[in-house]
Amino acid sequence: MDTRLADTLKGAVNPRRLADTALELVAIPSPTRSAGAVADKLAQILAAEGFAVERPLADWPEAPAVVTRLDSGNPGRTLQFDGHLDTVHLPFVPARLEDGVLCGSGASDMKGGIAAFVEALRALRDTGALQQGRVLLTTHDHHEGPWGDRRQLKALIREGYLGDGVLLPEYLATPLPLAGRGAAIFEVRIKRDGEPVHEVLQPPGTPHVLLAGADLVMRLRGLDQRLKVHTHPLTGADTCFVGRLASGEIYNQVPVECVINGTRRWVQAGSVEAVRAEFEALLAELAQDTGTKIELDYSISGDAFAIDPADPLVGAFQLAHRTTTGAALPLGGKPFMDDGNTFLALAGIPSLTHGPAAIGAHTLDERVSLDELVRVARVYALTAVAYCGS
Ligand SMILES: [Zn+2]
Repeated sequence: MDTRLADTLKGAVNPRRLADTALELVAIPSPTRSAGAVADKLAQILAAEGFAVERPLADWPEAPAVVTRLDSGNPGRTLQFDGHLDTVHLPFVPARLEDGVLCGSGASDMKGGIAAFVEALRALRDTGALQQGRVLLTTHDHHEGPWGDRRQLKALIREGYLGDGVLLPEYLATPLPLAGRGAAIFEVRIKRDGEPVHEVLQPPGTPHVLLAGADLVMRLRGLDQRLKVHTHPLTGADTCFVGRLASGEIYNQVPVECVINGTRRWVQAGSVEAVRAEFEALLAELAQDTGTKIELDYSISGDAFAIDPADPLVGAFQLAHRTTTGAALPLGGKPFMDDGNTFLALAGIPSLTHGPAAIGAHTLDERVSLDELVRVARVYALTAVAYCGS
């Protein structure tokens, strides 16, 4: 990248302007499904700056999404900046800037990051550095679970609000996540016919659901051991984890139900159905062996994914990161699921999660330094130049 252009662009990121935008966004409460007022505010900020703003309802009329574009007018790739404006349902903490640190609800997750996107757009506009392609900014509600179901992002994707690649400002500053495990949460209910009965009065052959549950825990442990061979260099291995077993009322009563909860995680993209089938087969075998009835509640959080390290978005990002900080990021796995998983699954476009080194996401004490917000705004702006123009 042209050094003079890079320096001009980095210098065009204005910390004061970025902080003001972040404070304005954090000042407005926006728990998931109620992000309308903050979306209106963001639209106002963008319109006041001369950006043309669209407000697609995108399956959530209570808080229409906010979309804008910065177009060079020349052919090239489209880089999408995508973020969620909703916050978790915790008591509201007002916005404040304290010794260069932004605090308040959503400061870390992720209004600080969205303010950095807006500042990156301004820097690109002010410098005219974007000579090819365009940047598409999309922001929306309905991200945080369990209150939201991602319907607004899914609708935006369906309606074609899509770039060739996406950046997401979740609070992960390192490594650069090029892969993630898929995950499912399970609840198994092992049941028998009849009522709870005293230990010494049980009819011969009464199935013991608690023992069947213990048996299942051991079988799942065996599965977990066998799964260790399914590995990925960035995300580790497949796992089957049991976090809870509950059964029985008192010491000498034969119970009627045993409940087991846990997770199943996998590294291979595209194996959602195979993983589920394997799990169901294991349960069917247990039911057969123990004479119990088994019900399964199996909730899929998302599939595994992997992004090609040779993808132009990865190269553009790493160049931008090197130009901003002096070094590329190490490659790694993504420890959580975010909207990037949805972009990859539904649209098949590369999605990179990179945000400020922020703390306190999903707590009452969210904090992110203005220096970090400035750093990521520079990385975002430089990535756009490198990606859209290459
Ligand atoms: Zn969150």
